[in-house]
Amino acid sequence: MTALACYASQPALSRGRRYPEPDAPLAGQGFRNPHQRDRDRIVHSTAFRRLVYKTQVFLNHEGDLFRTRMTHSLEVAQLGRSIARALHLNEDLVEAIALAHDLGHTPFGHAGQDALNECMAPYGGFEHNLQSLRVVDELEERYPSFNGLNLSFETREGILKHCARRNALWLEAKEPQGVAARFLNGTQPSLEAQLCNLADAIAYNAHDIDDGVRSGLLTLEQMQDVPLFSRYHAQVLDAHPQLQNQGRRVLYETIRRMLSDQVYDVIAATHAALQTHAPQSADQARQCPALVTFSEAMFEASKTLQSFLFRNLYRHPQVSQTTDWAREVVRQLFDVYLGNPHEMPKAYAQSEDLPRAVADYISGMTDRFATREHARLVP
Ligand code: MG
Repeated sequence: MTALACYASQPALSRGRRYPEPDAPLAGQGFRNPHQRDRDRIVHSTAFRRLVYKTQVFLNHEGDLFRTRMTHSLEVAQLGRSIARALHLNEDLVEAIALAHDLGHTPFGHAGQDALNECMAPYGGFEHNLQSLRVVDELEERYPSFNGLNLSFETREGILKHCARRNALWLEAKEPQGVAARFLNGTQPSLEAQLCNLADAIAYNAHDIDDGVRSGLLTLEQMQDVPLFSRYHAQVLDAHPQLQNQGRRVLYETIRRMLSDQVYDVIAATHAALQTHAPQSADQARQCPALVTFSEAMFEASKTLQSFLFRNLYRHPQVSQTTDWAREVVRQLFDVYLGNPHEMPKAYAQSEDLPRAVADYISGMTDRFATREHARLVP
């Protein structure tokens, strides 16, 4: 790892874990600092392995090459680490946050989350960012004397990307001046956490084009309406006229150029913002406005692409058809478990907060396990 900038999260200054633990052996000699250790804990967790079988946009069984939550998370980590290295930020922390950022996602992507949120409306709602934190704080069962993975403050702060005020108040009461405080006092998370948010958007904008075209729901012709795409598409055909009829290669080369320009744009824009605000420590960076950003032009271009994908892919009738089905599966599973808790494993069935236990159980499911449970319980 290159030397960290003064505004990076320094592992030695970590705010620590909820349950104090001694440093890893050899940590003093540069082996396994707290954020590397967090990353290792995440990779070995059950929730992480489940990401393989969870939907990003296309349902897991619809095709073997579509992104899943797992491959999406790996792409976010790759983009995040590249940018972190260029900005002398803490690459290990970025990797830990990126690999954990979607751990709380339900099966069936956003359709699953929306359905579960509706079911949980009378019981405090369901929100996947908060659930990701709940997974690493409470739901993983791997240690003899505490629940969860006992991650460092900085990783947990990054995992809690959004938080409704009501939930922030609740978290703050449990953990004063903790990971939710920033939603109440209007400060920013670490630069590494900010970077993961942006890397997330860069990743899904690009891979959803790829998956969208692969699925046949988006066409290259249609993509000409999106300046961020058509600009690079034209460049590619200009530079490689022989590729005119080789759709896939043109697509990949276009996406590659698009990704690379966004990465360099973030590096340049963030560099400029860091020079303007000149934070001297990670905590000073938290007091500044968000500093890890796109340039204004790239921000606009990325927003246009996002709304294109929204209209033409996420709301495509064929996608909506499957998401309607997925919503129904989640709703019916919720009702069945709430009425028949014994259909769940004992630890959930005996919970003092049954609706929350049902939400935990369902949100932990992979697409195919949820589908199987639905077939078993809802004839
Ligand atoms: Mg994501």
